Amino acid sequence: MEISVGKTSGFCYGVKNAVDKTNDVLERDKNIYCLGELVHNKTIINKLKEKGLKFIDNIEQANGTTIIRAHGIEKSVYEKAKKMNVKLIDLTCPSVLKIHEIAEKYALENYYIFLIGKKEHPEIIGTYSFCGKNSNVISEIEEVEDSIEKLKKSNLNKLLVIVQTTYSTKIFDEIIKEIKEKTPKNILIEIKNTICKATELRQEETKKLSKEVDLMIIIGGKNSSNTNKLYEIAQKNCKNAIFIENKEEIDKEKVSKYNKIGIMAGASTPQESVDEVIKLLEKEEKI
Ligand code: SF4
Repeated sequence: MEISVGKTSGFCYGVKNAVDKTNDVLERDKNIYCLGELVHNKTIINKLKEKGLKFIDNIEQANGTTIIRAHGIEKSVYEKAKKMNVKLIDLTCPSVLKIHEIAEKYALENYYIFLIGKKEHPEIIGTYSFCGKNSNVISEIEEVEDSIEKLKKSNLNKLLVIVQTTYSTKIFDEIIKEIKEKTPKNILIEIKNTICKATELRQEETKKLSKEVDLMIIIGGKNSSNTNKLYEIAQKNCKNAIFIENKEEIDKEKVSKYNKIGIMAGASTPQESVDEVIKLLEKEEKI
């Protein structure tokens, strides 16, 4: 059995920074809150809980220093925290902060903003709050026409398009094509591909690796947007693709039939989850 692990597999720099800094803070102080899941990964969340990190769903529940995760938060949450005198440790990924800056700047310059991404994703909820009232979220290509109607009604003649950092580059390209085709010619369109490099490289490598193996294993949290995208790519490029959160979900009998196995993990998947899967596969081979 040949096992190939993607070079870009596992923690991205934003997640690594958030996890490392949270662990550092917990060494010094036990009364620390985290607004939402720090990362979409149960293994890490459980470990942080054991270390005393308290997870809350909204800032009103904070009763001490509060960590802001890599996805970022809404503008109004910063304001509320200030009013409540809650100290924040802002671990929003620099790539996400950059999009907030872009959105604020262009909204001030009277651009209408299309934000491409999943409506319910925390990063999109946060970024949207920086886009101003002349904006809307596009999650699917079918929503482009309706968004253009709203743009026309706004009477603005400049459009900015930005995108969720972990979005699929393929779907982004399709949506952009549709926007360019359907937007009236008198409207200036400015497109900023804000998909982060870490995501782009990982998606490219997943595609390449999936084509070369008999079985492609994607490891990560089921609620992780970037890991779900990897699974979609793997399914399209490999006849046998599975999506698991940890080694317990592996069907040992099934995987032992394959000769060439590829492994890729999402941006919030710890290395130990990948190592455990490799170890199990190697053990199966020896049996
Ligand atoms: S996926 Fe990209 S934007 Fe998101 S946390 Fe990681 S490095 Fe930052």
